[in-house]
Amino acid sequence: MDKVFIGLGSNLDSPVSQLKNAIESLKQLETLTIQNVSSFYSSSPMGPQDQPDYINAVIEISSVLTAEQLLDELQNIENEQGRVRKQRWGARTLDLDILLYGNDVIDSERLSVPHSGISERNFVLYPLRDLVDSNFIIPNLGKISALLANCPMDGIKRLNDI
Ligand code: ATP
Ligand code: MG
Ligand code: MG
Repeated sequence: MDKVFIGLGSNLDSPVSQLKNAIESLKQLETLTIQNVSSFYSSSPMGPQDQPDYINAVIEISSVLTAEQLLDELQNIENEQGRVRKQRWGARTLDLDILLYGNDVIDSERLSVPHSGISERNFVLYPLRDLVDSNFIIPNLGKISALLANCPMDGIKRLNDI
């Protein structure tokens, strides 16, 4: 089965609990299995700066769902946890993005996979690195080690014991 990676982010209403709740909700789904969870990281906000820092993590799952069906499930969980979309890249209780869906490249109305922000977002690349080896290839983008070399850790910090 394809290796699928999901990026989690939150900066409102107890962000660490938001991520943990999302992981619990995903565990309840019979259509997917969580294979691995990265460390949790704190990160400075992207876009509007007048918002709290984020907590981020990446998980690896295996799933029988298509990418679109998976997006539906992720958006259901975002909505259950009170996600409101007001401002682009504004504060949110929960963001669940499909980072990678095996080696698939998807460019549809609802989905860009690999996720369009991967190469410049340290809060995605560093947690992803926890789960893959340095030779891991991201479709269209190349080796994760090369992407990491161009992506400083500025503003992100690994949190211990979470
Ligand atoms: P960004 O995608 O830059 O991280 P965001 O996560 O804040 O921004 P959202 O408001 O969560 O953006 O999602 C907006 C739309 O992005 C969704 O309705 C979804 O259709 C689309 N989208 C495109 N590609 C993806 C992807 N790989 N994972 C999740 N959503 C995606
Ligand atoms: Mg996002
Ligand atoms: Mg999103």
